[in-house]
Amino acid sequence: MTSATRPASAELVCFNSACRARYGITEVLYNCPQCGALMEAGYSGFGNAAALRGLFRERRLSNAPLDQSGVWRYRELFPFLDDYSEVVTLREGNTPLLDAPEAARYGGLERLSFKHQGFNPTGSFKDNGMTCGVAQALRLGLKRVACVSTGNTSASMAAYAAAAGLEALIFLPHGNISFGKLAQALEYGAKTLQVEANFDQILALVRVLADRLGIYLLNSVNPFRIEGQKSIMFEMLDQRDWQVPDWVVLPGGNLGNVSAFGKSLREAKQAGLIDRLPRLAVIQAEGAAPFHDFIRAGACEFRPVPRPETLATAIRIGDPVSWPKALNEIRCSEGAVEKVSEQEIADAKAIIGRCGIGCEPASAATLAGIRKLTASGVIQPDADVVAVLTGNLLKDPDYIYKYHTGKLESPGGARLESTFGNAPIVVPNDADRITELLE
Ligand SMILES: *Cc1c(COP(=O)(O)O)cnc(C)c1O
Ligand SMILES: [Zn+2]
Repeated sequence: MTSATRPASAELVCFNSACRARYGITEVLYNCPQCGALMEAGYSGFGNAAALRGLFRERRLSNAPLDQSGVWRYRELFPFLDDYSEVVTLREGNTPLLDAPEAARYGGLERLSFKHQGFNPTGSFKDNGMTCGVAQALRLGLKRVACVSTGNTSASMAAYAAAAGLEALIFLPHGNISFGKLAQALEYGAKTLQVEANFDQILALVRVLADRLGIYLLNSVNPFRIEGQKSIMFEMLDQRDWQVPDWVVLPGGNLGNVSAFGKSLREAKQAGLIDRLPRLAVIQAEGAAPFHDFIRAGACEFRPVPRPETLATAIRIGDPVSWPKALNEIRCSEGAVEKVSEQEIADAKAIIGRCGIGCEPASAATLAGIRKLTASGVIQPDADVVAVLTGNLLKDPDYIYKYHTGKLESPGGARLESTFGNAPIVVPNDADRITELLE
């Protein structure tokens, strides 16, 4: 065993710097028993940087399932398992880094690349984290997993639980269903329970049930999902031969992903894989921007938004659980926050579509945010920027059709401009007329 592959010791550590209580890696903890703060995985070390880089590159030629996964390929950088024989992979990760000149121009940049997590098996970055969360459930011998979600988390959990032979329980607020994503969960065989309560009430209920019935919770408080999402940055850096971009831009909802990115980049620096940190920029939708407002106001108290509203449902979160971690990452990386309107998201999304790339609405907040951050001089036009597209275009076809046909309305009921609309054209069954039209 080389120094690059020797297992490091892992434990669960309280995120609160005033507490830092430590627990065994196999304890089932979502919050610190001492102070209530979020938990995170902590490691004794990661091995030799040059050896790791070589190992990651070599694994791209391997046919071993673990090496073919764009998450587990980087397993030395989240060494919480000591036995990989039970890991279930759907070959998550392996997502492309795509140049997008037209989007760069629109965003006020000379160049821009998209790290597109919508290429994942269930169409969002939730797969990067879910393979790790489910691996931990298997290692603990728990047979049931659960989450409260109407979106990509439930689609992803349902798929990985099915592949791993676990029972998946999805709890939904009654009458608040996002159809496309729910359809995925049903097809993957998850048991779906609609509860007459709001999101927070259901979360409290599920925590009671989790203890009582031995259910493993895979909501974004789960520290192992965060460990898996770190791979998005490792893979991006590997694809750039470990050249660090100036900025990494991503949408923020519950703020788990920015927490994962920040942790991964700090740890990559600690491991000697990179020599500086990129700056992180988190973009929120105007109707669900508690983190943006908190940071921009320099407030000391975090104020949740009671009724978050945006058509970008993946970031329609009023009380993001991971805000303390996200705050730390914005500070450590000298990052930035921005918020964007429904119109700005919709137009940016159409531009990303025109690049032949496409994404779901939440993902397009990145380009809309970049446009504002270059206009205000926070991001320089010649900066080297990577934006992370979090979900697949096909997650929300209804939104797309409405935008292009001028029928998209904001949650408040205002008609949105179809600025880059591309409506279908009705033509007669007549070759001459169609020829005329096309000339
Ligand atoms: C979950 C999700 C987000 C938000 O990520 P957080 O970690 O909650 O901030 C953004 N976009 C898509 C497509 C998602 O599925
Ligand atoms: Zn604590």
